[in-house]
Order: sequence, then structure tokens, then C-alpha cells
Amino acid sequence: MGLKMDLHIHSTCSDGTMTPVELVRKYYQEEYGLIALTDHDGVDGVKTAQIAGEALGISVISGIELGTELPDGPELHILGYYIDIENPELNETLAELRRTRAERNRKLLEVLRSMGYELTEEDLKQRPDQVYVGKPNFALALQKKGYVKSPEEAFAPGKFLESPEAKAVRRERITAERAIGLINGAGGIASLAHPMKIKGIGEKGSEEFCRRLEEIVKQLKKAGLKGLECFHPSATHEEGIALVKLAEKYKLHVTEGSDYHGPEFEPHQ
Ligand SMILES: [Zn+2]
Ligand SMILES: [Zn+2]
Repeated sequence: MGLKMDLHIHSTCSDGTMTPVELVRKYYQEEYGLIALTDHDGVDGVKTAQIAGEALGISVISGIELGTELPDGPELHILGYYIDIENPELNETLAELRRTRAERNRKLLEVLRSMGYELTEEDLKQRPDQVYVGKPNFALALQKKGYVKSPEEAFAPGKFLESPEAKAVRRERITAERAIGLINGAGGIASLAHPMKIKGIGEKGSEEFCRRLEEIVKQLKKAGLKGLECFHPSATHEEGIALVKLAEKYKLHVTEGSDYHGPEFEPHQ
């Protein structure tokens, strides 16, 4: 078994472009020994990934990435590892998140239609069996209908999905504390995802950013956070080292992940 690991991977069960089984095969072929499937707000792909992993001889950790926020603003992504995917409380919350996401999508469609972009719910699906619909799917639908040339254009400042009207449509998120509580309640380990991507706490890497990040880590540690994703494509090598020091200071596990979304993944916000 290989020694390489990747603890942050998305499949078609959220916004990735490869199925859980395709991912396990790919990582196995690249000689990884340990991976975690961490789909947004769902665990639907975990079981099949683990079965495929067992067959091939690569360890697949059950995982999730929960979209959360702090009461005073910043949006935080919380990764959960080794969770019991059958945990009732976790599954109730995931069902609730699916409902609020569907609601947000309906409202966003209305807003886009009122702006003259005729999209239907069907346009938002790239695959017939697709369950998860996020903003990248809106961007792809706008492209398919010829309203934008690329999905990136759909996220251009002030336009389309970034227009004030579209931005006013907000999805209710759970708090980071609640997410950590849910993960711990399901027997898992919670880790703060890609700290360098946190928005609204000052310019990335600035003194203010570092101070506010540390405050967040301190607050979440009290809520039961056990890890910090120090190595992620959003962090430079130096930033990764600084994050390891922060993890050490608060006695947190150092976690690492690529946030892989598949080969043809379209960028998203
Ligand atoms: Zn994330
Ligand atoms: Zn992710």
C-alpha cells in the first residue's frame, strides 16, 4: 500500500466530476494508501467508495465537508473524518441542508429569470441522476444557454451570480460550532478546511488576517475542533508552515488535502 494520502476529495455526490468509485480507482493507480471522500453537506458516496477501496486495498476514510458560518460573518468549511455515516442526528441535519439548498436554488432561478436569463431546474443538472446542485451548476447552465462564454464569467464581479440581486439570495447555513458538535457526535474528528481561503477577516496573509484566524481557531477549539487543514492548494509553502505552528499551539491535528474535484472541474466560489 502506498504512503501518499489525500484527505479532501469531492465526487459526483457533490460538485466533483468523478464518481466515488472512479476516484478510488484513480487514487489507487497513483499509489495512494489513504484517502477521505469529503463531499459538500453529504455522505452518499462514502459507502461505495469504501467498498471499492476494500476491494483494491486502499483505505477510504468516511468524510464530509460542511458549509458553515460564524454568527458574526465569515463562512467556514468544516471537514469531518471517521464519522459514522448512519448517525441519525447528522443525517437529519443533512436532510435539512438539502432542503435549504433546494430553496436557495429555486429563489436564485427566479432572480436570474427576472434578469432575463431563462433557465429551468433541468438546465441546472449536468447528469440526469444529479442530486446536488450548487452555484457552479448555475454557471454551467448559463454557459450552455449561451448567456456567458465560460463558467468563470458567471462569477464576474457585479454580474450574473455576483449581481447584488443574486447575492441577496442567501442559503441558511449551520454554525461552525454546530457542525463540529455534529461531527463529534457522530464519533468523528473535525478539521477547519483551507484556512487561507477564509473571506471577510482581512487581506489573506496580513497581520489582521492572522490575528482573526487565530481567534477563530481558538473559538472552534473550545467547540471541539481537532484539526487544521494546513496543506491545501490555497496555502503557499510558507503559509502551510505557519498553519502547522498554529495547529501545534492549539494542539490540533495537521491535515492535508488537495480539494480535488475531478479533471474537468469548473471553478466556483
Ligand atoms: Zn471548502
Ligand atoms: Zn472541498
